[in-house]
Parts: sequence; C-alpha cells; structure tokens
Amino acid sequence: MRYDQAVMSERAAEVVICGAGIAGVALAYHLAVRRGMGGVVLVDERPPLSLTSDKSTESYRNWWPGPGDDMVAVMNRSIDLLEELARESGNVFRMNRRGYLFATAEPARVPDFIRAAEEATGRGAGATRVHATPGSDYRPAPADGFEEQPVGADVITDRSLIRRHFPYLAEDTVALLHARRCGWFSGQQLGMYLLERAREKGARLVEGRVEAVDVAGGRVRGVTVAGPGGARRIDTPRFVNAAGPFTKAVGRLLGVELPVFCERHFKVAFNDTLRAVPREAPMMIWTDPVRLPWTADEREELGESDAIRHLLEELPAGVHGRPEGAGESPVVLGIWTYDIEPVEPEFPIVFDPASAEIVIRGLSRMIPALSGYAQRLPRSFVDGGYYTKTEENRFLACPLPVEGAYLLGGLSGYGLMSSNGAADLLADHIAGRALPSYARAFHLDRYQDPAYRSLLPTWGDSGQL
Ligand SMILES: Cc1cc2nc3c(=O)[nH]c(=O)nc-3n(C[C@H](O)[C@H](O)[C@H](O)COP(=O)(O)OP(=O)(O)OC[C@H]3O[C@@H](n4cnc5c(N)ncnc54)[C@H](O)[C@@H]3O)c2cc1C
Repeated sequence: MRYDQAVMSERAAEVVICGAGIAGVALAYHLAVRRGMGGVVLVDERPPLSLTSDKSTESYRNWWPGPGDDMVAVMNRSIDLLEELARESGNVFRMNRRGYLFATAEPARVPDFIRAAEEATGRGAGATRVHATPGSDYRPAPADGFEEQPVGADVITDRSLIRRHFPYLAEDTVALLHARRCGWFSGQQLGMYLLERAREKGARLVEGRVEAVDVAGGRVRGVTVAGPGGARRIDTPRFVNAAGPFTKAVGRLLGVELPVFCERHFKVAFNDTLRAVPREAPMMIWTDPVRLPWTADEREELGESDAIRHLLEELPAGVHGRPEGAGESPVVLGIWTYDIEPVEPEFPIVFDPASAEIVIRGLSRMIPALSGYAQRLPRSFVDGGYYTKTEENRFLACPLPVEGAYLLGGLSGYGLMSSNGAADLLADHIAGRALPSYARAFHLDRYQDPAYRSLLPTWGDSGQL
C-alpha cells in the first residue's frame, strides 16, 4: 500500500484519524464517501490493517446478549452496511451467510437453547424456529453468498435431524442452535475496498507515528506525526483515536484516561488433510465444558508439570472453529479462549505453539474425526493479537471531553463485524447528524449514569466467544 507523502506538505486536514486498522479505515470511508467530507487524513506507523485487523477469524453475527437490544441493533446496522458493500462490489470480500452453529451434548441444556433463541428474537435478531421432529422443515445454509437467507435462529432438538444435516458432529449431540444472520468474509479484502473507495474521494494515508496532539483552549488544534522524513505538524480541528491496542496510550496524548484494557487472544490455522471438517460447514461452537482426551502415558506426563497440569482438568466451554478458504483449501481455523487475563500490549506477541494441539484436541470433542490427529498433529500455525475491551465488552464510538477529539475503540473480538456500524455511528457524531437510538450505549458518558454503573457488577454474559 502506497503512502501519500504529498499530504505532509499540505500541513492541514479536516480530521486526522490515528490508526489505519479496520476501525480507522471504515471511518475514513464513512466520512469521505458517505458523508462527502474533504481533508480526511489517516495516519499509521504500520502498513494499513496489519496489527490486529489481519489476525481475526473474520466472522460476523447479529447473535448478541443483552442487557437491552443495542448490541443487536448496531450489529444489524453493521451487517446491513456490509451487505450493501458486498452487493456494490460484486462481493469482493466473499461474504457468506453460513451461520453460527452452537452445539450441546447436555440434555439439561436443551431448554436453555430454546430460551436463548427466544430472547434473541426479543432483542431483534429475528424469528425462532424449533425443529423437534424428523420431518421438520429445517433449511440448511448455502456455502456461498448471503442473499435470501433466513434470519433469527433454528433450534434443532430432533437427533435424527441433527445426524442427517450434521453427521460429522459428535454422536451424543442433543441440540443445535443455528443462528442465521452470521457467517464470515475476508477482512483484508473488505478493508482494502473501503480504503480504496475513501482514497478515490480524497482521503489520504500518511505513514508515521502520532506523537503529540496539540490542545489549546480546550480544543484540538493539530497533531505531531513522526514519519520517515522526521516529525511534522498537521493542523486540524478534529482528531480521532482509532489506535486499537494503543487506544489507552493515544488517549493519554489528549490527557484523557480511557477505560479500556487488552487481552491476548490467539487462533490456530491447520491443514485438515483428513478432511474431518466438511468444507461447506458453518462456524461451529461447542457450548459444553471439555475434558481433553489424553492417553494414560500423556496423563502421567502432564500430571508431573505444574505449568500444564490444568490440561487434565475440565476446560471452559466455547471451543469453536470453521473451514477457511475457497476451492481446494484444506485450512481449518480453531479458537479456544481457555486462558486470558488483562496485559500491557507488546509486540511482537509470542504464542505457545502447543496451543495448536490443545485447540485441535478440544475441537475433537465436537468433531470426532479430528481425533485422527492425536498421534500426529497436522501442519499448523498459531497467531493472534489483542482484544482491546471495555469491562462490559461494549465498544466506544463517541466524542471525548476535549473539543474536536473522538474515540473509535474497544472493538474487542468483534471489530471486523462491527466496523461499519461503529464507524457509521462516529461519522454521524462528527458530521453533526441525527444519531441512531443505540448511540448512548456506545458513548463514554454511559459510565456517568448511576443506573448503568450499578448494572456492571451483574452484567453476566458479555457475548465473547
Ligand atoms: C485472534 C483474534 C480473532 C478475532 N476474530 C474476530 C472475528 O471473528 N470477527 C471480528 O469481527 N473480529 C475479530 N477479532 C477482532 C478484530 O480483529 C479487532 O476488533 C479489530 O481488528 C480491531 O481493529 P482496530 O482498527 O481497532 O485495531 P488495529 O487493527 O490494531 O489497528 C490500530 C492501528 O493503530 C495504529 N496505531 C496505534 N497507535 C498509533 C500511533 N501513535 N500512531 C500511528 N498509528 C498508531 C497501529 O499501528 C494499528 O495499525 C479477532 C481478533 C483476534 C486477535
């Protein structure tokens, strides 16, 4: 990607966006293309989309818990925008609608699945359809495309129907919840498409590090960018912090302490040479806790080490995965959030190569054919990045207490899917347009509200997978 050196001589912008990850790029698009704003400058010290936004599993869903319906509303808006972009571009970013398939082998949890689907219906995610008989009219999702598909969720409780449509899942699976307005796309292609459209409308990309924000009289006046040619100033009345894992550090340049923190998350990509995971499968999530299958020798070995003995214990619910890539691709992605804590962001991130084995073994509880890799692991690759989060896992897209300063951050593990909804919301703030009903739920001011603050200790499910 080419950087625009020329803009540095212009020395002025209407808005400077710090960060050309998916958040900053989507905002540049919504300002320059959809709101016709001139003088949009994106500044990044790295190539665009290269820090967190290319490490994602690239999945999307309108399946989100409460409280309230704001999360579902903003995701529905984001997915509407993604679909518009897919249509106008000939689907260059290969958006599909295969759905998220939640599975359980616990008979006692079947009513929970039905209740969860009905609650999601109440929040605006779409209708619930329960399939409790072999002849029920469950409609599977196509592998490609996203048009004319159902929304809401199908809950399948008839075991013969489960086996007919998903014969590769564990035989003791007793219920499936297939959330339908969900799937995946190429985040890199989406980001490049947004960036190119923004550049056609005059947005500029500048290579450099935002080192200082000049604030005088309580408002933004300019930024100092250290780039290849040295440090320069860009005069601007508006500055947006879209710095991903460095959101907190960039907030301090404005003298604002932001309530976000980072967690390290990884994903595993492996070559499924045994073809255990069908290429047309949806995103699959095992919702029961898992005990990993180990041989007696392995159990003894694990039991001897304090560092890894916990792998003999029950591990948390939520191991998930999906096929990746078109055509003959053998790649399967797997994620399992079994070990997280807040950390300071540091790069490069080092990941434990042993996590590939743990994730593949965990996935084998849901897809038994994967146990074929127990003796010999497939070729695999572990990478990842930081989820930059607020405590209740809801992002921030709002003005900051310094006039002319804005925030687009805390996009956690859902920044690709929410990028357009979040950027569209912040663009409305910046352009002074009427705000959507959910604006307040993604505003920093929410923490000033005593009723909201009193909810936080009892928040419950944050929707993180
Ligand atoms: C393992 C994993 C799986 C994920 N799976 C999904 C998924 O399935 N679906 C989904 O929607 N999301 C997913 N995500 C989350 C998603 O990747 C992130 O939410 C999203 O990429 C965040 O984008 P961003 O633009 O905020 O941050 P980033 O992509 O990190 O971009 C921030 C940019 O700011 C720049 N920057 C920072 N400070 C400065 C400075 N001072 N000067 C100049 N530039 C600066 C950085 O160089 C960087 O390029 C996943 C994330 C991980 C780690």
